[in-house]
Amino acid sequence: MRFVDRCRLKVIAGDGGNGAIAFRREKYIPFGGPAGGDGGRGGDVVFVGDGGLSTLLDFTYARTLEADRGEHGMGSDCHGRAGADRVEKLPVGTQIFDAESSELIADVTEHGQRVIVARGGKGGRGNLHFKSPHDRAPRRSEPGEPGEARELRLELKVLADIGLLGFPNAGKSTFVAAVSAARPKIGDYPFTTLTPILGMVEIGGGVRAGGSSFVIADIPGLVPGASEGVGLGIQFLRHVERTRALLHLVTLDAGEGREPLADYRALRKELKKFSPEIAERPEIVVLTKADLTEVREAYPKLKARFAKAKVKLHLISAATGEGMPELVRELAALARKREEPAEQDG
Ligand code: GDP
Ligand code: MG
Repeated sequence: MRFVDRCRLKVIAGDGGNGAIAFRREKYIPFGGPAGGDGGRGGDVVFVGDGGLSTLLDFTYARTLEADRGEHGMGSDCHGRAGADRVEKLPVGTQIFDAESSELIADVTEHGQRVIVARGGKGGRGNLHFKSPHDRAPRRSEPGEPGEARELRLELKVLADIGLLGFPNAGKSTFVAAVSAARPKIGDYPFTTLTPILGMVEIGGGVRAGGSSFVIADIPGLVPGASEGVGLGIQFLRHVERTRALLHLVTLDAGEGREPLADYRALRKELKKFSPEIAERPEIVVLTKADLTEVREAYPKLKARFAKAKVKLHLISAATGEGMPELVRELAALARKREEPAEQDG
């Protein structure tokens, strides 16, 4: 599976139709007045946000999107028909830039959101409009205006279904690498260093083989104070914004002097401060490094402590694979909720 997160394309709106020059021709009226109709408006090029799409792949084949031109005006006062709009669906989360100026034209954040990226030209007026006391038979009309044309750059910032949370060293990167290494079809997806690494996880051979897939984002560096902009926190939190569910990793690393429940609460607090809405999303909480003796021994007690806080604590080892297939299946189930129509309103 190929991943496209950015593409360039040209959009060309329809030209307006020309206004007509025509005269009335009726029996017994030798010199009829002007009767040239107006040209129709050119069609717009319009993008519509669609919550069911997750890549820009389709646009790598269609490099130019063109709307229909408006019909020319005709005689007998007939106006030309407007050109049809060209309407294309875009994944929610796409940002639309002007390719030349890099100006952000729109941020498609909602299902059903409409953005006109190129406006159709106005139709020209027919000679009907140019009649005056001095000129009863005007031979004048307007041409249609040209439709707008521009080069766009589309960027899909985050394709992730699942956002990873956890202190440094919790094992986030190792987890992503492990689910990647287990499936050769996974594409690790490097953005710049400040943005997350996305890993595509395929189950049962991937979508084409009747299985499923989801995308997980490794978001490094979330630390307490992140919601106030400490470190690079805010930037990273921004990337969790569009995920559907969270995987929160905690660790018990003797060398780090970590206390998993305290860590968990600290990050939850950051998350809530940043966005109560994101904090409401489904979350799976996992204690990592189950292969280490001290982790294994501490797990039953920790599990009970988390349970008191109404959190179910899972246990995995990315090193040995323990608990991993079950976790991946649970994550896939959460990611699938994305496709349920009830979640796509708006
Ligand atoms: P991140 O900062 O959350 O991305 O954590 P990393 O994935 O970089 O892991 C931090 C450290 O923990 C590294 O030294 C890993 O090798 C180690 N680690 C991660 N997962 C496991 C595991 O399942 N078992 C053991 N023993 N070590 C692990
Ligand atoms: Mg890491």
